[in-house]
Amino acid sequence: MKTSGNVSKQNPGAVRHIVLLPGDGIGPEVIASARQVLEACAVRFAIPLAFTEAAIGGAAYDACGSPLPQDTVVKCCAADAVLMGAVGGPAWDKLERGLRPESALLGIRQAMGVYCNLRPAIIYPQLAAASPLRADVAAKGMNLLICRELTGGIYFGDRGRESVVLPDGQAVVSAWDTERYNTAEIRRIALWAFQSAQARQRHLTLVDKANVLESSRLWRETVTNLAADFPEVQVDFLYVDNAAMQLLRRPFDFDVLLTSNMFGDILSDEAAEISGSIGLLPSASLGAADRPGLYEPIHGSAPDIAGQGKANPLATILSAALLLRYSLNLPEAAAAVETACQAVLTAGYRCEDLRDTGASLPVIPVGTQGMTEAVLSFLK
Ligand code: NAD
Repeated sequence: MKTSGNVSKQNPGAVRHIVLLPGDGIGPEVIASARQVLEACAVRFAIPLAFTEAAIGGAAYDACGSPLPQDTVVKCCAADAVLMGAVGGPAWDKLERGLRPESALLGIRQAMGVYCNLRPAIIYPQLAAASPLRADVAAKGMNLLICRELTGGIYFGDRGRESVVLPDGQAVVSAWDTERYNTAEIRRIALWAFQSAQARQRHLTLVDKANVLESSRLWRETVTNLAADFPEVQVDFLYVDNAAMQLLRRPFDFDVLLTSNMFGDILSDEAAEISGSIGLLPSASLGAADRPGLYEPIHGSAPDIAGQGKANPLATILSAALLLRYSLNLPEAAAAVETACQAVLTAGYRCEDLRDTGASLPVIPVGTQGMTEAVLSFLK
């Protein structure tokens, strides 16, 4: 298994430094849960862990006038791994673009050089009734790994606005964003995708828009060239509009989906919805082998339930499991956390986001801390 992080340079008994970025809204609540789980792993697996908290998002803006203080960047880049909650909220929505909490997301990803965003999306059999898909489709399951390029493409490309006068004399405003990739950027994320596919079901699907976009044609050429090095991996190609449909019709047919920044952003939210709740999906953002990884749930700060103890912490706890696997190279501890999360679902524990799914099983209603304690009890 490919891993990412400073720890690979350390001896196995060394203290592993984890930076926690609670952020805004439910961020601090779900990070507190994941910390308890990591601390329990530290005891069970005798791993010396050290935690440092740093400010990000609206909370950082309120504290020091910047959503991404330099001190936070320095701490994150020096860590073995970083676990982030979520940022944003109505209190900061009217700030100018560069000061908004969400700008810290792009900033921290870029500063840490994490170009590969891995998003596992699973329909757990225990939660098939929570999926909005037709019951017979959901019953066949989904176990998908989305590999989304994270630091290039249209979100980082040249953009602008200008006032122009049309030939008919009409004055209008024109705006543009640019999708630009080079072969090195495509190749490095494609390598992650091929290696991930090799360790899974050996099936890789490149999602693009090669019938229209030149940048997508470069993705196809680069992935096709690389495929020669991975003869055991079956490679196919889908246009993004078709991929959005096929995910609904036959999600069980996919293994690894490789795609660009914007297409991955959209498809991973679709996959999240298919899996039943956004409160379940973790993510890992990885870069060079000697750099720390950044781990976060895919959900936002959920201002509508913040501070009420209702947030489902499983996405963040599962992100902590990815951190154990990819940055700390502790697959056994990662698997133990994932097994404990599955066990709580099998036992019927449900936060509010997963109740009322029409399932006939008896449900044990819990809040954030109740769910955390259930995971801890199975972990021990
Ligand atoms: P959101 O993911 O915060 O919430 C969408 C819906 O899902 C809400 O009803 C919310 O209550 C629910 N939800 C989300 N996470 C949940 C959890 N763990 N448990 C239970 N329910 C959960 O998306 P949004 O409402 O579009 O955005 C809210 C804020 O979060 C905005 O400021 C947005 O910019 C920000 N945001 C941040 C990130 C991030 O930090 N990575 C990602 C997306 C959105």
